[in-house]
Amino acid sequence: MKKIGIDLGGHTIAAGSVDFSGAAPQVLSAVTVPTPENRDLLSVIHALEELILLWAAPGDECFVGIGIPGFVDSERRRILRLTNFSDCDGVVLGKIISANLKARGVRVDVRLENDANCAALGEGLAGAARGMRDYVVLTLGTGIGAGIVANGRLLTGAHGMAAECGHMAVSGDPLLCRCGCGGWGHLEELASADWIERRAGAVGLPPIFREVWEMRHTNTEAAALLGPALEALARGISSLAVTLDPEAVILSGGMSHAAGLADELRGRIEKYLPVPFRAVFILKNSEIGGSAAVIGAASLGQEMCKR
Ligand SMILES: [Zn+2]
Repeated sequence: MKKIGIDLGGHTIAAGSVDFSGAAPQVLSAVTVPTPENRDLLSVIHALEELILLWAAPGDECFVGIGIPGFVDSERRRILRLTNFSDCDGVVLGKIISANLKARGVRVDVRLENDANCAALGEGLAGAARGMRDYVVLTLGTGIGAGIVANGRLLTGAHGMAAECGHMAVSGDPLLCRCGCGGWGHLEELASADWIERRAGAVGLPPIFREVWEMRHTNTEAAALLGPALEALARGISSLAVTLDPEAVILSGGMSHAAGLADELRGRIEKYLPVPFRAVFILKNSEIGGSAAVIGAASLGQEMCKR
């Protein structure tokens, strides 16, 4: 059976056909297309189906894993909340896609997963966490996501919502920032690229994370903006480390490409860690980037997380 992985993002959709027959999964072919501009349900479904049909021909039977930037139910079929998209909350996405494609002669079994959870599975199968049984992948980008593998299994929680680390409350002043999820004082509203870019624009800096990052040693406004964001990230990551005692915390997503980010964070994290954690704490960057989520999504069909 063909295995197709899709990573639905706010700006782009990455998809690929993945072969799991070898020692490590291999992306046979992949494409990235822009996310439909209005991000409404019908446009998203259409875009997803067209991507699936790149690999699935009439008569085929395929598995399709879709990583979504939001909350999914514990059955991995229904979208609970998809911030930044419209009309998608409560939708049993896989059922709609399966029915539509069945009418075109293609049988697909669709499973949803949080996109950062997909990235965590992919890093474990083919990336920076290969061989590890306890690790965290943090996706730093438009928002902040996380996937946690504990004792060799993806941590999903009682309601399917575990590892929503972008929504850890790390602000000392919760009234200052309300998160898109409805909560207050969350990491995502203090340290995501989206937030940094919004604040940068408001104080006359270029509203592009990478440019603000490169100005941090020469521009006091940029330093004043990034300092609290990095401290919030450091508090969040150190809290994850003491909770989970991972072999490594792996940074992925657009922000992680900023040169020196991991070193800068490591320096800030150490002071928050209890002494016994400092010698064993490892923070490193993803080795396979966006492929991780595609591989992880495609792997959902074979329950490879249950190693
Ligand atoms: Zn939140």
